[in-house]
Amino acid sequence: MTDLSQKEIWFATGSQNLYGEETLNQVAADSKKIVEGLNASEHLPLKVVWKETVKSSEEIHDLMIQANSNKNCIGIITWMHTFSPAKMWIRGLNILKKPLCHLHTQFNAELPWDKIDMDYMNLHQSAHGDREFGFMMSRMRKKRKVVVGHWQTQRVQQKLGVWSRVVLGWDELQHMKVARIGDNMRDVAVTEGDKVAAEMKFGVAVNGFDSSDVVAHINKVNDAEVENLLKEYKNDYNLTDSLKEGGEKRQSLVEAAKIELGLRAFLEEGGFTAFTDTFENLGEIKQLPGIAVQRLMADGYGFGAEGDWKTAALLRAMKVMATGMKKGTSFMEDYTYHFTPEKSFVLGSHMLEICSSIADGKPNCEVHPLGIGGKADPVRLVFNAPAGEALNASLVDMGNRFRLIVNEVEAVTPKADLPKLPVARVLWDAKPDLETAATAWILAGGAHHTVYTQDITTEYLEDFADIAGIELLVIDERTRVRDFKDTINANEAYYHQFQHGM
Ligand code: MN
Repeated sequence: MTDLSQKEIWFATGSQNLYGEETLNQVAADSKKIVEGLNASEHLPLKVVWKETVKSSEEIHDLMIQANSNKNCIGIITWMHTFSPAKMWIRGLNILKKPLCHLHTQFNAELPWDKIDMDYMNLHQSAHGDREFGFMMSRMRKKRKVVVGHWQTQRVQQKLGVWSRVVLGWDELQHMKVARIGDNMRDVAVTEGDKVAAEMKFGVAVNGFDSSDVVAHINKVNDAEVENLLKEYKNDYNLTDSLKEGGEKRQSLVEAAKIELGLRAFLEEGGFTAFTDTFENLGEIKQLPGIAVQRLMADGYGFGAEGDWKTAALLRAMKVMATGMKKGTSFMEDYTYHFTPEKSFVLGSHMLEICSSIADGKPNCEVHPLGIGGKADPVRLVFNAPAGEALNASLVDMGNRFRLIVNEVEAVTPKADLPKLPVARVLWDAKPDLETAATAWILAGGAHHTVYTQDITTEYLEDFADIAGIELLVIDERTRVRDFKDTINANEAYYHQFQHGM
């Protein structure tokens, strides 16, 4: 769903006119080689585009105007090969609207001990040139990522790769449209929020639709399309007997296929890349969409159940960040606990809608009654998720700001089969332990809905929070509840002066 080939990261090298032509030619040659090196790296998913060395306030201002107006440019990397007096950067930085990453590197890695002279010293000045630039960014209170180290190292290239992917997700949000089908589950608080503020802050447009808008598309689905999709279901999943051809519940699968086709057509026609629904407002839709939502998520759509548009948008943005990655990212909910004296775990799931991108093996396709909503039995994919490092992320609206909460977890293999549980699920060990993690999560106001991922790490979401200018609270191996409370209190004071959208 995301075409990376059109997106660019610009690489701007700062200097000044003091050094003369020969030095500036060398600066340009060196920065070109760095750009070539980054483009050859497997860690950077996007094209890095070299730009002429900037040496004056006018050149920097012009570059930033171009970066702002160029649709392909989604972020800019800056590096000061030499000293670049940073008052020159004020005008340009004042107008820059795209995310910025400050690469603090040096062309040569090691000192040439027997050859080094003052000419060498004057050419390779990023050690202090980048400090001058850093001061200006801090003085202007500009959020940015700082990456330090030699440009040929894996570590630096990985960090630039992380940032590039986050910038890709950020760019996605700037033109994202979320369809909120049937508004919110009645009386639920955390899934609500300020959609005007969200569009000002993140760029995402969230608008409401009636279930009849989807039904109009379901009614247009033809038999051939349904037949093709039923074949796909047969190939991709282990169909339970009652859903097979001639099975007693076959009609449920036909209905599920129609719902998927209609929902997909509705989303495509409207240009939506994320959506929500709610079991209370399904209208004439015969089943709560289960397999449809699971498959749409696997194709890259963002989704939030019960009207949860913030999770839907965050999921879509994180799926775009993870373009080409293989471990998967899904809508998730903390569902049930496994408390034991030794160790406690969370069983994460939802009524139906877990993305099959996190499935461990071929999912089963089953149909079972749903205890709520009063609709026909919905078809769903049932599977376990693989063990491994993962995280849950929740975006909540605190009234005067958005807060992103992250809990690092480790998914573990379920202790036993769950033969009577008809939903996809993940068992995880929350860091640092469930008692601390859930205490901190609840104090932070984290939602029951999250985005669960094994592809995106906390570093991505830290970069994301900086670009968006939102609060980030991380619960990880080092979290202590008392310190966590202090952080919440400090953030209350810090964000007190800011209102939504500022
Ligand atoms: Mn839910």
